[in-house]
Amino acid sequence: MKLFAVSISPSKNPSVDESPILHVDLDAFFASVEILDDPSLRGKPVAVGGAGERGVIASASYEARRYGVRSAMPSVVAKRACPSLIILPGHFDRYEVYSREFHSIVRDLTPDYEPLGLDEVFADLRSLRRLNVWPLEAGAALRQRITDELGLLCGVGLGRNKLFAKLASKEAKPRVVDRGLVEGSGVFWVSPEQEARWLEVLPVRALWGVGPATSAKLSQLGLNYVRDLARVDEVTLARHVGPAMAAALAAYAKGEDYREVVVDREVKSVGHDQTFARSLVGFEEVTAALRVHAAVVARALRERHLVARTITVSVRYDDLTSVSRSQTLPFGVDDDDAIASIAHALVASVDLSNSVRLLGLYASSFLERSDNHMQLAFGLEATSSDEKSSAAVSSREQQVDRAALRDAIDEIRRRFGRTSLGTASELNEHGLDVTTQRGRHAFGPE
Ligand SMILES: [Mg+2]
Repeated sequence: MKLFAVSISPSKNPSVDESPILHVDLDAFFASVEILDDPSLRGKPVAVGGAGERGVIASASYEARRYGVRSAMPSVVAKRACPSLIILPGHFDRYEVYSREFHSIVRDLTPDYEPLGLDEVFADLRSLRRLNVWPLEAGAALRQRITDELGLLCGVGLGRNKLFAKLASKEAKPRVVDRGLVEGSGVFWVSPEQEARWLEVLPVRALWGVGPATSAKLSQLGLNYVRDLARVDEVTLARHVGPAMAAALAAYAKGEDYREVVVDREVKSVGHDQTFARSLVGFEEVTAALRVHAAVVARALRERHLVARTITVSVRYDDLTSVSRSQTLPFGVDDDDAIASIAHALVASVDLSNSVRLLGLYASSFLERSDNHMQLAFGLEATSSDEKSSAAVSSREQQVDRAALRDAIDEIRRRFGRTSLGTASELNEHGLDVTTQRGRHAFGPE
């Protein structure tokens, strides 16, 4: 899009009140994760999508984009544009792990954020006013952390509202010009002086919610640029595109955008991850660290009166490649030992011959504690007299619970096998069965 060739460096440093909205968009997200997980793909034209007759491209690396490959393009067309294009079916479980870590980095900046899909986030910076946060500095620091900790690049946009923040993040990204890649600035702020200039050159097609159908309708009315929208009154517009879209378009034409950053306070997962100053080496070190992670996650669950059915372990190596394992249980857990046992079983299937730089443990698929009919009760050593009096009952319950946990761990071993040596007592059952299973997601029929 021509607009984004306009590059203006910020003339000053805005305050959070001048630039309250931040938008982050990860670059070529799915394709970049595939390349991190398989470094032999680096430098090659890679896309994630359906490779078949009617498949569609979901994400393309910049090498592929240089040939004109882009998302939403039919794979057949993409292959024609770039015959050496490698189309991968995608690993949604991996994207979810990266996305969760991306969100947790944003959350460290402010809890006032709104994810959009897996690879975009809006944040409202106004609550940071008292902390003397400056948007451009915060944006640069955020981008640095995403690069350092996830190995992913992104564009960070700053503006007065969502409209400009989103346009700014696009401006901040690399772009393809004449088959060559031009680096973006990484972080970009749209100043009030630039807003008017941007609206002048902005095609309606670039606006939020304006898809091919709406833009075709607007084009029939001779409305191709946002500046054109100012010529038409909202009532006329509403007759063609409906009242809601008309109201949004009329606002955009003036550079206004009344959408707030919608913060979802409901917790969907709790987790703990840590990047280690000295990388962890071997099963013993990793499981010792997971035990600490499990205690943190278990406490967070208990504080919220929740139990979790899904436990995910994520491992990132020194070379930034990473792997994750996840298991959903028929019951919920909120206990240190239970979560640690499941995490250990999951990590036993992970190759730990390389040193581990980041280790994450996440709990999700929540149930209210009171709805958990198979609650695992550990802490076998009853200490209070109350507990002793019901020792007969609770020890039977605990046996059932232990059996359920053992089943869950067997299921993990069956699914993932093992590549790492566990403790000696764990070694006799299945030996070292090296299989991996990853979630798959098809983009159109193969
Ligand atoms: Mg993106």
